[in-house]
Amino acid sequence: MTKFEALGLQQSLLDAVSDMGFETPSEVQEKAIPLLLEDETDLVALAQTGTGKTAAFGFPLIQKIDAASRTTQGLILSPTRELCLQITNELQSYAKYEKNINVVAIYGGASITEQARQIKRGAQIVVATPGRMKDMIGRGLVNISKIDYCILDEADEMLNMGFYEDIKDILSNTPQEKSTWLFSATMPKEVSIIAKKFMHSPQEITVGSKNSGASTVQHEYYVVGGRDRYPALKRLADAHPDIFSVVFCRTKRDTQKVAENLIEDGYNAGALHGDLSQNQRDLVMNSFRKKQIQMLVATDVAARGIDVDDITHVINYQLPDEIETYTHRSGRTGRAGKSGISMVIVTRSEMRKIQAIERKIQQKFVHNKIPTGPEICEIQLYHLASKIKDTQIDKDVENYLPAIYDVLQGIDRDELIKKMVSVEFTRFSNYYNKAKDLNSSVSKDGNRDRSGQRGPNDNGSVRYFINVGEKDGYDWMSLKDFIRDTVGLGRDDLFKVDVKDSFSFFNTEAAVTDQILQTFTDFKVKGRFVNVEVSKSPGGGRRGGSGRDRGRRKDKGGYGKKRHDKKGHRGSASHSGKRRSTKRSDFF
Ligand code: ADP
Ligand code: MG
Repeated sequence: MTKFEALGLQQSLLDAVSDMGFETPSEVQEKAIPLLLEDETDLVALAQTGTGKTAAFGFPLIQKIDAASRTTQGLILSPTRELCLQITNELQSYAKYEKNINVVAIYGGASITEQARQIKRGAQIVVATPGRMKDMIGRGLVNISKIDYCILDEADEMLNMGFYEDIKDILSNTPQEKSTWLFSATMPKEVSIIAKKFMHSPQEITVGSKNSGASTVQHEYYVVGGRDRYPALKRLADAHPDIFSVVFCRTKRDTQKVAENLIEDGYNAGALHGDLSQNQRDLVMNSFRKKQIQMLVATDVAARGIDVDDITHVINYQLPDEIETYTHRSGRTGRAGKSGISMVIVTRSEMRKIQAIERKIQQKFVHNKIPTGPEICEIQLYHLASKIKDTQIDKDVENYLPAIYDVLQGIDRDELIKKMVSVEFTRFSNYYNKAKDLNSSVSKDGNRDRSGQRGPNDNGSVRYFINVGEKDGYDWMSLKDFIRDTVGLGRDDLFKVDVKDSFSFFNTEAAVTDQILQTFTDFKVKGRFVNVEVSKSPGGGRRGGSGRDRGRRKDKGGYGKKRHDKKGHRGSASHSGKRRSTKRSDFF
C-alpha cells in the first residue's frame, strides 16, 4: 500500500496526517496529491462524495502556499456555508504544524465586516461560497487578483445551485496565469463547460466510473401504495433501530409535514429546508451531528450542506425529478469508506424511474419488502436484548437496587428475562400485530405480480355494513376511531366511513377482512350486539369515493423510538374522535 510519505508531502503535513488518523491515502488522494505537488497544472478530478477530495487538494495547496507572504494565494469555492466551514476546519487541521498559514471562511448569513476583518489580517487561503465572494469582491473587501490557485470544489453542486454566473464573475477577477483545480462527484454538461471555458488543457483524474454512485452504497426500493408512503417510512425506521438517516422529500411542505408527523409519532426527527432561518437550520444540524436527531427530513437544496460521515441510510421518501439529484442524495451515505444504504419508496407507476436510475448509476437496485409487523417486533426485541447486554452499569443505580431486589425477589433468571422482554413486546405487538402488509405486489417491470395472493393493494377494497349509526352517537370520525381501535387497525386502514341513522358503512382493504369479521363476532357494547357484515351494496370501490376524509387520513401511532410519553399518545388514540392538534417540532 502506498503511504502518505510516498506522495511527496513535507513532514509538517505528514505529522498532521497522522494526527488526523489517516493511514492510507484514498484513490483520489493518491492520484491527485503527487500530480499537484509536482506540476503547475489545471486539474479535473472526479470522485464520489466521501472519497476524501478535500485532502486531495488541501494538502498540496498548503504545501505550495508561501506562508511568509500575507497575500491571498489560494481561493476555494464551495457550494454551501456548511461545506465552507468544513473545508476551512479541515485545512486548518492540515496546517496545524505550519506557522502563519491563515485559512478564512467567507459565506452568507454571517457578518460581512467580521469576515472582511479576518481577510484584512492576511489570509493566504480563502474558502468561500460564490454568492458572498462576489459580494465581497464587489465591495472591495477581498483581493483575489494575485491568486495562484483556484479550486472549484463540489463543482457539480455549485452549478446545480445556479452559481454559474457568480463563478464566471469571480473567475474574471483572478489572474490568467494560475492553476485551476476542479473537484466534482459527477460530470454533468455544465461542469465540462466550465472545464472547457476556464481551464487550460487540464489533467484528468477519474476515480470509479463517471456518474456512478459510490459502490459502497447499496440501493434498495420498496413498492407501496401512494397513501402508504408515510407508514412505510415508519416501518423502515422501526426495522432499523440504530438508523441515522436523511429522508429526502420533494417540497418544503412535504419535508415539514413528514418531520412533524415523525416527531409527533415519537421519532427523533427534524426538518431542514429553505423556509427555516439560518439559526433554525444550525440548531437542527447540530442536533443531527450529535445524533440527537436520527431522521433528518430535508429538501435537496437544504441537504447540500450536509456533510456528516456516518449516515447509515438515505431514504428517498419521494424520488427526485432529476436522476442526477438521486446521485447526490445517495452520496450522503457510504462516506469515508463506510457502507450505506439508499432506500427508495416508490409507487407502481414510478417503477420506470428505478430502471432509469439503474442505467445512470450502473448499479442494480434490490427490490425489498417493507417489513411486516412480526418482523419488526423481532428486530426490536433483538435490539433490546443486545442493548441490555451492552449497557454500561451506572454506579448511581446501586442506591436503588436493594429495594428493586426486594420487589423482584423469587423470580428466577429465565422468568425475569421473559418479563422484561414482555414489557416491550406488548407495546410493539399491540401496534404491529394486526398491521397490514404495505407492499404493493409488483414485478420489476412494473407489472402487477400475479402470484395470486390477496394483497392489500389488490384494488378491490371491501365495503362493510355495521349496525350502529348516528342514533348511537357516532359521526364518521368517531365511528372510524371506534372500529379502528376495536380491531387494532392503523389510521389509514379505514375509509369511506358513511354514517347513517341507525347503521353505517365503511371500507377496508381485503387483507383485513377476516380480522374485522372475527373481531365483530359476538361482539357486544353495553349489552348490545354490534354486528359487521360484508356489504353487498355498491360503492365498494376505492375510486370514486367521496374523498371527504381523504385529506385527513394520516397514519398516526406507531411506536417510534422515543416516546414523548403523553397519555394515549401511542396506539390508543381516544375514542372521542377528537383529533390531536399537530404538535410543532421542538426546533421551531
Ligand atoms: P469528499 O469531499 O470527497 O466528499 P471529504 O474530503 O469530505 O470527502 O472526506 C470525507 C471524510 O473522509 C472526511 O471525514 C475525511 O476526514 C475522511 N478522510 C479523508 N481522507 C482520508 C484518509 N486517507 N483516510 C481516512 N479518512 C479520510
Ligand atoms: Mg468535498
